[in-house]
Amino acid sequence: MYHLTGVTKSYRSAQGPVRALDGVGLWIEAGDTLVVQGPAGAGKSTLLRVLGGVERPTRGSVELDGTDLATVTEARLARIRAESIGTVPHGGGLTPGLSARENVAGALVPLRLRPADRGELADEALEKVGLGARRNCPPSELGEGDRRRVALARALVKRPAVLLLDQPTAGLGAGERDGLAALLEGLWDEHRLTCVVVTEDEVLARRAPRLATMSRGRVTAIARCAG
Ligand code: ADP
Ligand code: MG
Repeated sequence: MYHLTGVTKSYRSAQGPVRALDGVGLWIEAGDTLVVQGPAGAGKSTLLRVLGGVERPTRGSVELDGTDLATVTEARLARIRAESIGTVPHGGGLTPGLSARENVAGALVPLRLRPADRGELADEALEKVGLGARRNCPPSELGEGDRRRVALARALVKRPAVLLLDQPTAGLGAGERDGLAALLEGLWDEHRLTCVVVTEDEVLARRAPRLATMSRGRVTAIARCAG
């Protein structure tokens, strides 16, 4: 599914160049879930943006099913993002003025489905995350845990081949975090979805089917966990 070789990403900052990713090599099989744990500043969000085709690496290759996201044309990259990659950004990334249903359906706009079909698929995705009954609520009327579920439904609604999650449990209370972690575990088991989760959350990391550790732009130890 994913094959990363020598992936480096440099940024210019006021303090000089920053190497957010420093020679990352990774192999992620189709249907695998990889949790990447590391402290703030380790390069987790940068890694996720590179995997999602939102940013290109400075050096190295990011092959997704044989297509190198580092060098593919912008048009093809946009299409891959729209069709194949579902992303939950840090904080969820919902639009405040729209209902849960409209937020989820919005992810289908680039796929040129009919509005009625978009609504139906959005309802289905919201059911799947346990929020069918609250589909007409805007994010402001939902608790933080439920907002994260809507964001997850938004990423899942197009049935992507790849799901990328940036700190899905950050800032949640223990109860909401456990609920979301259980929901994620259910997804990992149920679907043949390739999933990469980056997190600072110890509890989520402990539940990982496969765990990588990241520090200073490098992916160190990868372990496949029992379970
Ligand atoms: P994490 O998500 O693990 O906290 P990031 O990927 O956000 O880490 O950042 C890794 C490093 O790269 C940090 O030092 C951060 O300041 C730097 N960085 C990330 N994005 C940018 C950017 N757009 N411009 C400059 N520096 C950046
Ligand atoms: Mg981050």
